[in-house]
Amino acid sequence: MPAPYHHCTRCGSPDVPAASPREFVCASCGYRHFITPFPAAVALVLDEGGRLLVCRRAHQPGLGRMSLPGGVIEPGETGEQAAAREVREETGLHLPAVAFRPLATLPNEYEFQDYLWPTLDLFYTVQAPENAALRPDPAEVSEALWLPPEDAAMCDFAFESNRRAVRLLLSARNQVPQTQGEAHNLPHFCQSAA
Ligand SMILES: [Zn+2]
Repeated sequence: MPAPYHHCTRCGSPDVPAASPREFVCASCGYRHFITPFPAAVALVLDEGGRLLVCRRAHQPGLGRMSLPGGVIEPGETGEQAAAREVREETGLHLPAVAFRPLATLPNEYEFQDYLWPTLDLFYTVQAPENAALRPDPAEVSEALWLPPEDAAMCDFAFESNRRAVRLLLSARNQVPQTQGEAHNLPHFCQSAA
């Protein structure tokens, strides 16, 4: 994958060689460009019965594959606020930021504008109210499902961090699944639609 910087963002010079795998320094003006993880907030939303909310992605990367609701944290937001906003935007569920509880942080990669950017995913658990109505945004989510966590762990997730977080949730409940959901053995409800 080519470097994300083809020109200096300060002086426009096309000579921006790599000083390290994560640093690109302009040969003309010395401006330093870094590749550093973007923080993202991701929610493990549970219903009254302990089922987990899993979404089918309606856009790239990972079109047609499964993911947990989440996205990049915006300036000024806490992780909890970002998780609450992403859940609201993607699924229509209104949950207060104070209800979100930290579970784990996991590194991830996200392909965007022809580069595989590193992210740091902040995972939160949150309880949805009884009979919570889902109104998925069709631009973001083509399908939203409540699944037992052990079934969700076998889904074809677009991001490895999501799968790891679901396994951590199961481990926390001492319910480690018997199978780890290899691609050839996916249950029907979470096979790729792409
Ligand atoms: Zn420059």
